[in-house]
Amino acid sequence: MAQHRIIGTRRETCDTPRVHAHVVIVGTEKSSGYSKLWTITQVYNAMDQGDTFYTCGEKSQKIVAVHKYSCPLCAEKTLRSAPEAGTDDNLDNLPTCQ
Ligand SMILES: [Zn+2]
Repeated sequence: MAQHRIIGTRRETCDTPRVHAHVVIVGTEKSSGYSKLWTITQVYNAMDQGDTFYTCGEKSQKIVAVHKYSCPLCAEKTLRSAPEAGTDDNLDNLPTCQ
């Protein structure tokens, strides 16, 4: 079982039922840069094996777990950080990974 720190995301825009974006790819950290890009399916599979994913706020240094989440608008499988996430450690605030 491994723990993966998510340091970036890539979002896809969806226009149904209205224009919004949800996370489709996440990047996790190794020593420097992105060690791996994960699709949502890969993250879900890893979670099913017992792996955990989290974000760590740059300012708060607070570790927040990331969970499976169905997009409330289009029901697509995506991810979000725990509801108690502070402003700087939410998935939505991470930079876009290349
Ligand atoms: Zn959506």
